[in-house]
Amino acid sequence: MNLHEYQGKEILSSFGVGIQRGIVAQTPDEAVAAAKELTEKTGTSWYVVKAQVHAGGRGKGGGVKLAKNLDEVKSISDDIIGMMLVTPQTSAEGKLVNQVLIAEDVYYPGESETEEFYVSVLLDRATGKNMVMYSPEGGMDIEQVAEKTPELIFTEEIDPGTGLLPFQARNIAFNLGLSGAAFKEMTKFVMALYKAYESSDSAMFEINPVLKTSDNKILAVDAKVSLDENALYRHKDYLDYRDIREEHPTEVEAKAAGLNYVALDGNVGCMVNGAGLAMGTMDLIKQAGGEPANFLDVGGTADAKRVEIAFRIILKDPNVKAILVNIFGGIVRCDRVAQGVVDAYKNMGDSINVPIIVRLQGTNAVEAKALIDAEEGLNVISATEFQEAAEKVQEVLA
Ligand code: GDP
Ligand code: MN
Repeated sequence: MNLHEYQGKEILSSFGVGIQRGIVAQTPDEAVAAAKELTEKTGTSWYVVKAQVHAGGRGKGGGVKLAKNLDEVKSISDDIIGMMLVTPQTSAEGKLVNQVLIAEDVYYPGESETEEFYVSVLLDRATGKNMVMYSPEGGMDIEQVAEKTPELIFTEEIDPGTGLLPFQARNIAFNLGLSGAAFKEMTKFVMALYKAYESSDSAMFEINPVLKTSDNKILAVDAKVSLDENALYRHKDYLDYRDIREEHPTEVEAKAAGLNYVALDGNVGCMVNGAGLAMGTMDLIKQAGGEPANFLDVGGTADAKRVEIAFRIILKDPNVKAILVNIFGGIVRCDRVAQGVVDAYKNMGDSINVPIIVRLQGTNAVEAKALIDAEEGLNVISATEFQEAAEKVQEVLA
């Protein structure tokens, strides 16, 4: 589950990680009130207005702007709230901005230059261990750094038994080119950051930039936090962080119905039980010359009701030209699924306007096929073998 910057910073701060402080606002008036409150709390006289959407690269798209007084806070917030923000990480139409974070300006001049670093914590799938990935060249062009000067990206592998050790934190601060007070602050920062990552059961932390201020503080200016959904039951207090406005509407609906659905951009809808078979089915569709329009795992209980919901969800996608139902009847009997398909089809009347290829294999597969073949007037084609199903998909697409 992805979080907004302000939510990620709340988690960081609760574990003692230094952050650029801010207050979230839904309207320009709230933004002004937030700015006033922020000045009382922090003494800041300049502010940064930051669009809160689940996408990076906001600065490049005009979603992060400096405001030097309350009038500017108001006019900039007015511009940003409600805009379709296009960044290198969004689609061409962009993402609607519902809220902004009014943050303190932390790039104030002082005894030394400010410096921007990149620090992330994530699982290294090759080693099965967490790692800290970091670079002295943080800021808005980190992708280019990774591409052109990969030697400037460092990693520190973490032993799961010991966690991040102090010598590793010192190594990071050293490789970032820090010394003196800033060095010490950075070691504290990364130790706290790793603690926050582990304790919150996060899947990824990406802090870019981590800022060394002109008075040698180390702060998270940005926070991209992704929580591990499978561990959310241990963090009930994070459940409220879900912002469904940021998610694909059909995926939200599917989740509410207990279906595991991911939208894709192909033309063949699929309805499958079991994630492994769903992946195999997607391969099959590709082999048959189609492109899967979605991943959909209906789970173990493929009854008429669930099948109907699944059909409705698949058919919301106007690109779908055919639907392949591929169910293995182990615990669930194929004839019950077949009956479910037939009932759902009849219930939905005219709304199913594409051919459906049904492949049922396993317990009572023969009865299931007979049941479907006996129905007349339905645009449902039955198949028993995987290959046969692929050929039928090919035929209807041709
Ligand atoms: P992103 O573009 O979505 O990654 O958003 P960030 O939160 O990283 O902000 C983008 C850029 O805005 C940063 O890289 C900074 O250069 C700049 N920025 C952020 N906070 C401040 C601030 O307090 N003062 C100034 N002057 N610039 C800031
Ligand atoms: Mn950033």
